[in-house]
Amino acid sequence: MPVMVASENGRRGMMAAMMLLREGGSALDAVELACRIVEDDPDDHSVGYGGLPNVLGEVELDASIMDGGATLRAGAVAAVQGYGCAITLARKVMEETPHVLVVARGAERLAAELGESPQDQRTEEALRRWRERFAERGLTPGATENLRSVARILTRPLNLQDKIYKAARVDTLGTVNFIALDAQGNLAAAVSTSGLGWKYPGRVGDSPLIGAGNYCDNRYGAAACTGMGELAIRAATARSLVLYLKCGMPLVEAGREALRDLLTLDAAEGQYMNIVTLTPTGEHAGFSTVPGKQYLFQRAEMDEPQLADRLMLE
Ligand code: ASP
Repeated sequence: MPVMVASENGRRGMMAAMMLLREGGSALDAVELACRIVEDDPDDHSVGYGGLPNVLGEVELDASIMDGGATLRAGAVAAVQGYGCAITLARKVMEETPHVLVVARGAERLAAELGESPQDQRTEEALRRWRERFAERGLTPGATENLRSVARILTRPLNLQDKIYKAARVDTLGTVNFIALDAQGNLAAAVSTSGLGWKYPGRVGDSPLIGAGNYCDNRYGAAACTGMGELAIRAATARSLVLYLKCGMPLVEAGREALRDLLTLDAAEGQYMNIVTLTPTGEHAGFSTVPGKQYLFQRAEMDEPQLADRLMLE
């Protein structure tokens, strides 16, 4: 029965989490473990340690976790600096506070109170990319005048000639998400990211926002997003897909309807949205607004995760 789906960069995390699920572990533990593995990987520049920094050169992490069980528990953190393990902090918010979302200084304080060790999340490699991207466009890395240009990146109409916009479009998206169905029939979903590279300080994407980048309900299914978070926030993409399932749509139709919702947003070139989804019966699918995107899935009897194509609108 156990099944997992994930974004393309989740292979190692999925393999470890599937071992846990095969031994009877919970979906919640599986998705947290899987995210932790990607968060700790310095070579993944879109998540956790080694994530790409914001415009000022600071790494800010966002994460959320949702338990599809009867009470729809959820926890999230956003704009966390100086601590890794964002997904574990999100789970602590869910399990040890009466809140759902704790941000920035508050999340860092919570981490310290929980005994987490502070750790600079910036790697030399991520900082080198940050410096190079700005310098190669004649901008001073970290200069405050860059802030105004970054603010423009995220508003419309976009100025395609904007130097930072061009800098921002090179390899700056990325997130990891996992959804697991365990042997007890429980679903859980987790999303972790360093967000859009070179983002405005304090910018929060869809990943930590329940309903936007993450939603999970044992009765109908779960969905998680990667891509330009501003789109999934405005269309409440993860919750919408699950709501379409609740309304009785087949999985492929529900996913395509969620993609259709995104059409009205007039996304700029390079602003895509991906969704992965898993139902309580183990049916899975991936969706994307752009061609060529894939996702990972693994059933308990498979030795390793497999890639599958994400569906688009027809
Ligand atoms: N959705 C993430 C964000 O907007 C980034 C990504 O998935 O690529 O922060």
